[in-house]
Amino acid sequence: MQYIGRFAPSPTGPLHFGSLVAAVASYCDAKANQGQWLLRIEDLDRPREVVGASDDIIYTLQAYGFVWDGDILYQSARSTAYQTALDELKLQGMVYPCTCSRKTITDTAEQKGIEGAIYPQTCLHQTIDLNKTPAWRFKTPDQETRFNDMALGLQSQQVATEIGDFVIKRADGLFAYQLAVIVDDAAQGVTHVVRGADLLTSTARQILLQDALGFTHPIYRHTPIVMNTLGQKLSKQTQAEPLPLDSVSTHLCRAFDFLTLNPPAYLVSATSNDCWEWAIQAWPASSSI
Ligand SMILES: [Zn+2]
Repeated sequence: MQYIGRFAPSPTGPLHFGSLVAAVASYCDAKANQGQWLLRIEDLDRPREVVGASDDIIYTLQAYGFVWDGDILYQSARSTAYQTALDELKLQGMVYPCTCSRKTITDTAEQKGIEGAIYPQTCLHQTIDLNKTPAWRFKTPDQETRFNDMALGLQSQQVATEIGDFVIKRADGLFAYQLAVIVDDAAQGVTHVVRGADLLTSTARQILLQDALGFTHPIYRHTPIVMNTLGQKLSKQTQAEPLPLDSVSTHLCRAFDFLTLNPPAYLVSATSNDCWEWAIQAWPASSSI
């Protein structure tokens, strides 16, 4: 089996140090396993997209010496594939339409999960208003989902009680991240997903969807998240600074250091090529196939 990894940023703003760490981890893991490394732009959420951010991300990755295999996949061009997956789930009776407003859900929900109110399955048990365009929810099975994370060990989540029946297509027509990501991973033959631990709690949902659609599960490895001095995750919302395009080796070494690779001091003044050569050697390729 050939290793296929990927990096999948959302174009909601420029890359910052936190995104660099995630990219470095997935790149080193792929290269240390003689794998391919794909680039996917997760531009599903057009309303949140920042004009020019995709090109800016691509330019920055190139400046840092990342080399991806094949063409860049844009999620905005993949609606047909997501709809096909939704149709398949409809055929299997694993999804149901929901016309509840956010307010109705908060007012009627009795349980709170890790991502807010747990949907009380109202529309599963009643006829829906046919004049409204519905959202589509996944009927979460009443079972524990387990997976072995390459960095964090055995993980388990009871999606039904911790998250609830989650939306995979919104009423406004946007497909949810959870569905898009597993359809793309399957289509691209991704074998290893190395990403930030902020996505750890999404993994069980993705595994349930993979099972429902008959897809194989990639191997997961979640890497530590970079926080700012206030203890917040670096992001556009927390005003993370864009990655500078100069002193590339210095920033690469900071990322290696954050990932506990302990780069030697001379590397900050070496070329980005030298940095990569060193890091790929130093990366613990424990997630070999
Ligand atoms: Zn509903």
